[in-house]
Amino acid sequence: MAVIAFIGLGNMGSGMAVNLVKAGHEVRGFDLNQDAVAVFSGQGGKAASSVLEAVSGADAVVTMLPAGKHVRGIYEGEEGIIAHVKPDAILMDCSTIDVDSARAVGGVAAKAGIKFVDAPVSGGVAAAEGGTLTFMVGGPEEAFEAARPYLEKMGKAVIRAGDSGAGQAAKICNNMLLGIHMIGTCEAFALAQKLGLDPQRFFDISSKASGQNWSMTSYCPVPGPVPAAPSNRGYKPGFAAPMMLKDLRLALETAQSANAAIPLGAHAEKLYTLFTESGGNEKDFSGIIEMIAANRTE
Ligand code: NAD
Repeated sequence: MAVIAFIGLGNMGSGMAVNLVKAGHEVRGFDLNQDAVAVFSGQGGKAASSVLEAVSGADAVVTMLPAGKHVRGIYEGEEGIIAHVKPDAILMDCSTIDVDSARAVGGVAAKAGIKFVDAPVSGGVAAAEGGTLTFMVGGPEEAFEAARPYLEKMGKAVIRAGDSGAGQAAKICNNMLLGIHMIGTCEAFALAQKLGLDPQRFFDISSKASGQNWSMTSYCPVPGPVPAAPSNRGYKPGFAAPMMLKDLRLALETAQSANAAIPLGAHAEKLYTLFTESGGNEKDFSGIIEMIAANRTE
């Protein structure tokens, strides 16, 4: 069994790291938040007191951090992970970050002869705990094959998207689509209700017609049709609205640098900005239906 360093034991990382422990690995956890490290050591992990202590001599490194600047800060430079790991270690960044940062770290690792993949995830906290995440992986084939056995212990699907940065590209495009179809689904339910349709009846029809989509059938923004959806518990996240906004902003930045038109993605970013600034900050992203139903869209 391998020695794994796990950096970033937050909402997602904590569950993922425990799944590596359950798989029989020695997992050294580090987080700036010492309470998170203490919880992890109570679950069979080993507490590390710094990033470098965690990664020293490790066979594999997993990071699950908030944004690109944290990831670059921790991997690059003389005090970074890349300069201090074993030459045959595999490095996996599972955070959702911008494509340019992912490529930059991938480039530094390649130059040092170290295997690195960007491997962002789809699935929320429940999937992180249950080991049912989907990983979208960017990096050289050899690095992908080295990462796969570790990622499989934390997920139900591990798919190579392409070269360095391709995992983040897939994640950003997927989540932009999710934001757009959630807003569209909310608009349809709000309009249906104003036209006198019963929400359950509209769900029964549209979920079997051409408007069917994941936001409707797995995550319905009105209470009732999908019992596990956050709409049934006051829009408690789930997938918090600020997280969706983060991903839409990444899509905007990425589209600008790729010279790609994303008119609906850009409008979704505006609507989620409005939602988070007008009481939606603590809510699930499907809670945007309340703003739309109240005609507060400008
Ligand atoms: P989180 O804020 O709960 O966890 C991030 C952790 O990183 C925190 O515990 C923080 O203390 C730690 N951290 C920050 N900088 C650090 C450093 N330099 N060294 C060590 N630890 C450091 O966030 P999360 O919800 O776990 O999300 C993590 C990543 O996963 C994000 O990129 C997010 O976009 C992505 N993601 C989240 C979800 C979700 O549903 N929460 C779903 C898919 C992807």
